Amino acid sequence: MDLGLKGKIAVITGASVGIGLAIAEGLAAEGSNLVLAARGGERLEAEAARIAGKYGVSATAVAADVATVAGTEAIIAAAAEKGGADILINNAGTGSNETVMEAPDEKWQAYWDLHVMAAVRLARGIAPQMKRRGGGVILHNASICAVQPLWYEPIYNVSKSALMMFSKTLSTELIPDNIRVNCVNAGLILTPDWIKTAKQLTAESGGNWEGYLQSVANEHAASKRFGTPEELANVFVFLSSERASYCIGSTYFVDGGMLKTI
Ligand code: NDP
Repeated sequence: MDLGLKGKIAVITGASVGIGLAIAEGLAAEGSNLVLAARGGERLEAEAARIAGKYGVSATAVAADVATVAGTEAIIAAAAEKGGADILINNAGTGSNETVMEAPDEKWQAYWDLHVMAAVRLARGIAPQMKRRGGGVILHNASICAVQPLWYEPIYNVSKSALMMFSKTLSTELIPDNIRVNCVNAGLILTPDWIKTAKQLTAESGGNWEGYLQSVANEHAASKRFGTPEELANVFVFLSSERASYCIGSTYFVDGGMLKTI
């Protein structure tokens, strides 16, 4: 199936590892040119160069913190330099671990800036570029936790839920400009960060980190396995394409059977 993504300009945040990197590779494989953002410039630049060489596309690395105004401005400017973006993937984010009773305001604010304000600011800067180019696609990587919380991470649950509602609200505002906005809620996706955490948690009890990850999958996912970043990226790539032209303002679950409701 030709997805018609050749020559498109795609901005992807959190693109140096894990899910964002897999989405970047997926779009590059379809011929899209990339603007990739993450805080750590070295790892990002190495991946941008690798992807550009492998797929014959252009890939610009922008070392930027999306939780700040300056960071989002740098990303918007990099997209403008390429002539404007057609696709924006708001992917940068991270889990949390706290109780509501103990977490300070500053922690709530930091996650609000990372998961919500980054998407707000990037939409304000990049949607006008898309409009000038005749339309575009904005996708938000929230989480199954936006609707089915994990109790150890209340700040993550709440801020991802807000991102999901932002996505829905933005979709109505932007569809008159032919910009389709959607959200994706993933379940357990096996990124290097999960492996690092599993290794840390099992270090003092024999180091069976693979067994630990299997127990997490057994507990949460009907499929009893983690998904790969590529399995999730495939959905982002499809939603980025004209093949998904009637997908507007929805949230798509990619969770291996983790969601317990209809
Ligand atoms: P990783 O921790 O593997 O990667 C996160 C990426 O985001 C890195 O490139 C990181 O680079 C970048 N990043 C983090 N903070 C910022 C910031 N403030 N500004 C710019 N870039 C930033 O995450 P995953 O791939 O696992 O997750 C990606 C997204 O998917 C997240 O939003 C997460 O909530 C969501 N998700 C993940 C699931 C999973 O099981 N893995 C399940 C459901 C949702 P750097 O540190 O250099 O900035």
